[in-house]
Amino acid sequence: MSTESAYIPRQKCFERDGRTDLKAFDRAGLEAWFIEQGDKRFRGHQVFKWLWQRGLDNFDEMTNIPKQTRTWLAEKATITWLKSAGVQHSKDGTRKYLWECHDGSHIESVYIPDEDHPGKARRTLCISSQVGCAMACTFCLTGDLGLKRNLSPSEIANQVLQVAQDLGPEKPITNIVMMGMGEPLHNLDGIIFAIRTMLDDDGLNLSHRKITVSTVGLVPAMKKLQSALPVNIAVSLNASSEEQRLQVMPITRKYSLDELIQTCKDLPLPKAKRITFEYVMMAGFNDSMEDAARLIGLMRGVKSKINLIPYNENPARDIKRPSAERVKDFQHYLVSRGVHCSVRVTRGKDISAACGQLGKASKEEAVPLSA
Ligand code: SAH
Repeated sequence: MSTESAYIPRQKCFERDGRTDLKAFDRAGLEAWFIEQGDKRFRGHQVFKWLWQRGLDNFDEMTNIPKQTRTWLAEKATITWLKSAGVQHSKDGTRKYLWECHDGSHIESVYIPDEDHPGKARRTLCISSQVGCAMACTFCLTGDLGLKRNLSPSEIANQVLQVAQDLGPEKPITNIVMMGMGEPLHNLDGIIFAIRTMLDDDGLNLSHRKITVSTVGLVPAMKKLQSALPVNIAVSLNASSEEQRLQVMPITRKYSLDELIQTCKDLPLPKAKRITFEYVMMAGFNDSMEDAARLIGLMRGVKSKINLIPYNENPARDIKRPSAERVKDFQHYLVSRGVHCSVRVTRGKDISAACGQLGKASKEEAVPLSA
């Protein structure tokens, strides 16, 4: 039972070139802004639909909006977009989108289709929440960039809209994972406004069951997020003990493994939900059977499922991926003792779109976004 009240982030106005960025508002925010401007609430609702359902890039095509309103909108407001800096296609169908933000910084989104299930294809989009990342996990390439800045809600939600436009109406995106560049919970308010637009029936119309936010384990923000939105939470655990986690994830100094696990136990999860624990397997570091045994201990009393991610090797790190056999044995050890455990299949390897590979994008390798 939770007595804490829900976390409500403060509505903030984002500007671009002296104009209000309409896509940074969720629906309620846009409606409130319309009222502030002396216009009507329902006009805000109508514009919200044009922005997210139709993906319009100008006010003139908003045919149910009076000319007078369109005129003041064009003066005071703007419809923002990410500039495409190319897309790479993997032979397995994965696509890596490179975007240039208005300030010249680059971010990435990865589209991962899984059409193997007839009638219910899963088309996942992995999106970024920050330019760079401040968490400095030793094994992750994005960490090398350091944190440049938070993405605005419009930059986060635009990744979904713009990839959806590129894929076309026959291939709707079904799942969103916030597992791209950045630590989403370090940009909590930004992701909350963007996710609200994703969830809105008149926005991007996605289901909360299909949105997952992944975190290194920022304890206070995890509680706030869970009280604000019913999305899935994934925790990057990556170690089976405090000492081990301290070696690779500096955030452990701030929130200990004990505190993190206790928080996971206490989160008021909806009935059927489990927290996903991502566990990047690094050969000789955290892939022994003792690690597996310790993991079982950690998961006791937590509504959890473990997702093993065999390390994606790269020239910038001297870390090895365990053999497929070792990964299988590790998984078997957990499953045979009643722990839910899956292995993440590596996708988009040939285009460096796999987990932990984002942020080293080079524009030269990308080809222009096909219209
Ligand atoms: N900051 C958030 C969101 C990023 S998710 C978080 O850490 O959860 C990116 C996932 O990829 C994390 O689980 C991370 O542990 C994992 N990862 C990072 N580098 C990797 C690599 N080289 N191989 C496999 N997984 C990696």
